[in-house]
Amino acid sequence: MSLIDDAVAANATIANEYDPALGAPPAPKIAIVTCADPRLSGIARMLGLADADVDMIRNVGTVIDDDSIRSLIISTRVLGTREIMIINHNGCGMTTFTDGELEERLRDETGMSPIAPARFYSFTDPEQNTREQMQKTRSHPWIAAEVSVRGFIFDVDTGRVSEVQPLETTVSGQSN
Ligand code: ZN
Repeated sequence: MSLIDDAVAANATIANEYDPALGAPPAPKIAIVTCADPRLSGIARMLGLADADVDMIRNVGTVIDDDSIRSLIISTRVLGTREIMIINHNGCGMTTFTDGELEERLRDETGMSPIAPARFYSFTDPEQNTREQMQKTRSHPWIAAEVSVRGFIFDVDTGRVSEVQPLETTVSGQSN
C-alpha cells in the first residue's frame, strides 16, 4: 500500500466531517507566493490568516516566473486580492546547488539534454532573491499599481517573518 492509497482511504472517513460551506466560491483577500517546502505549509496559520482569506501560490524556491505571474494576475484581477506577500525562507533547498550543477547531474543520470526547463532558479541569498521576485512582480504591467507587493523571509528555526526592503528606487519623497 502506498501513501497515496493510505491518503485516499483516510479521505473516505475524514470527508464525513467536511463542512459543505467550505465549498462556497472563494473570495480571498491576499495572495501569498511561497516555497513548496513542507515547512511553509503552515504559513497562513503562522500569520494569523484564515485559509479562506489566502490565495496560496507555491513553487519550489518562491519564484516569480510566468506561471506565478499568471496566478497573481488571476488572483488580483479576477478573484480580487489586493495585497501580495512573497515569502522566501532560510534553509531553502534551492540554495544547495547551482542550476549548472543540477543540469550536469541530470545529464549524467539520464544521458539527455532537454531544452526545458530553461532555468531551475537556484539562488544563494534569500533576501536578494526576494528583492528580485518583488521587482519582477511590481514591474509587471498587469499587476495594478494599487496592489501592495511586499517581501518577507520566514525563519524556519523561530517561526518569525522579517520584511525585506525593496530595491532602491529614485522616486522623490521616498527613501526606498
Ligand atoms: Zn524553499
